[in-house]
Amino acid sequence: MHGLLGDTLVAATHNPGKLEEIADLLRPYRMNVLSAEALGLLEPAETEDSFVGNARIKAHATAKATGLPALADDSGLCVDALDGAPGVYTADWAETLQGRDFDMAMARVWQALDAVQAPQPRRARFCCTLVLAVPDGRDAVFVGEMDGHLVWPGRGDQGHGFDPMFQPDGFTLTCGEMDRWEKNRISHRAMAFKKFMEGCCT
Ligand code: IMP
Repeated sequence: MHGLLGDTLVAATHNPGKLEEIADLLRPYRMNVLSAEALGLLEPAETEDSFVGNARIKAHATAKATGLPALADDSGLCVDALDGAPGVYTADWAETLQGRDFDMAMARVWQALDAVQAPQPRRARFCCTLVLAVPDGRDAVFVGEMDGHLVWPGRGDQGHGFDPMFQPDGFTLTCGEMDRWEKNRISHRAMAFKKFMEGCCT
């Protein structure tokens, strides 16, 4: 994909937390980042059972609709004692009739761990798969992970999603307590982005 990237990229996400992180991560490369939501694109259904499958759906739909390179992120929290759940269904665990509720979703994860009497520390990782798709149908895949353990109750009000209950290895702060620059240095998304930059922007 080297050299196929111009100065404009569409972030194939409707998630404001992810969009903010993607814009921060791309800022040093002076890339013009548009969002699928701001362009009025509909969010395609994520019908695959893998991160890469769902990221491909989002990236190709956006590249086709806009005629521009599109970058999609599919990510989630994988908990060892839950056999990798919620994994690709992480966002679904937060769904309520009134929209997504991550306080409820974090409590659900902790309760599921209590139900299987999982010992502490309760190991988990955030996983991120990035897919860059170009309008002619080609794509490239980049994967990043961040290992850590879960804490309860969650701590901090920075970040998004499950950040307050995730403490990365080597840190005493949860991702919810870290400032965004610190998280963007070590996160699963940052690791995948590093590979994307090395593959596409250098
Ligand atoms: P999807 O990739 O849009 O299917 O959503 C993945 C879900 O995983 C998000 O809604 C978040 O709840 C969660 N998630 C992914 N990355 C992070 C992160 O960096 N911090 C906290 N939660 C995350």
